[in-house]
Amino acid sequence: MIKTRQSLHKIAELSNQEYKTAQFVVDFLATCNPTSIHQNIGNTGIIAIWESDNFDSTQHKTIAFRAELDALPIPEPNNFEYKSEHQGVSHKCGHDGHMTILLGVAAYLKNNFYKIIQKTGKRIILLFQPAEETGEGALQMLEDEKMQKLNLKIDYFFALHNIPSYQKNLIVCRENTFAAASTGIIVEFEGLTSHAAEPQNGKNPALALSELTQFLYFLSENTIKEKENKDFVLATVVDAILGETSRKSFDDIAFGVSPAKARVCATLRSYLDEDLQLLSQRTEQKAQELAKKYDLKLKISYSEKFAATTNTEQSVELIQKAATKLGLKYQNKEKPFSWSEDFGQFTQRFEGAMFGLGSGKNTPKLHHSNYDFPDDITQTGIDMFVALIQNSEIRS
Ligand SMILES: [Zn+2]
Ligand SMILES: [Zn+2]
Repeated sequence: MIKTRQSLHKIAELSNQEYKTAQFVVDFLATCNPTSIHQNIGNTGIIAIWESDNFDSTQHKTIAFRAELDALPIPEPNNFEYKSEHQGVSHKCGHDGHMTILLGVAAYLKNNFYKIIQKTGKRIILLFQPAEETGEGALQMLEDEKMQKLNLKIDYFFALHNIPSYQKNLIVCRENTFAAASTGIIVEFEGLTSHAAEPQNGKNPALALSELTQFLYFLSENTIKEKENKDFVLATVVDAILGETSRKSFDDIAFGVSPAKARVCATLRSYLDEDLQLLSQRTEQKAQELAKKYDLKLKISYSEKFAATTNTEQSVELIQKAATKLGLKYQNKEKPFSWSEDFGQFTQRFEGAMFGLGSGKNTPKLHHSNYDFPDDITQTGIDMFVALIQNSEIRS
């Protein structure tokens, strides 16, 4: 398993470019005698199915597990022997570890097919999604005809994420929202250029940009004050530019031109999907107001949309039972995580849950350049998923 993780680490690939990674996964899965493997779903996604000869979806349970294929655009400073071969791209979210855990489950299913699948009538699905980091991959798969044709009735859908700053092998979970909803919003204003000596002859969007930036800065505070539920909302301005949006660097300045264009980008976050809608509406409203006030054209678009990951009560109960059975420490997280997870697209459609697997108190944080998935939690991930397969009879 360690060798497998390191091999995956070496070939780290960006979202929606996970070709070598997907091939590696498919080759491994093929050695585990699945009933069927389906490739290139939603670009590079993979679905492997193990089912009994007498499988009947009205009588037998289907349990699905997810891992992510993609890495991040982060250069790897580490010098270990399995360092990423792809410059500027590396596994800094531990998806190499998550894939390895699922491959470990595949190997287990191969060795225990009769006991786990044939005797119980169950169906197990291992799903590998592309483009988790950009929030695109889950929908790509769900909307792909190939997946729709499979018509998978999934009773329980689980995923895990390793969590730095939590002790190794601790299981962290909660009911309802587990990870926040979020979206990038892009607001573009367009006026008219003029000579910098005669700004009155043009339409310079500088004030629209600064007023919108201020509005966004106070948006979460003001929204929380007015909302009935006091759940977490957050707006973070991540980019603001006045002048040509195509310019390559901060030093690329045209002092002779009063500009026509401005762009403000923000990330909106909340624990509830409806609060995210509220933040989007308010931002759109303000942008429209400003466009009118300063006589500017307006374009609003969204990017990297993540639904909230929502855990059902039954699924969390199964996770808790699995942890207890394995003698693992379980922590109920009081508040959801403020980051977002593309797994939310699956929990919107299927009963399921995501849980956290502690990856060490002193492990660098996710997406930090010196993060590396700790191999000594892999077995716990495999054991948890196997226990979930065994336990899922409880609520038949
Ligand atoms: Zn990540
Ligand atoms: Zn991740």
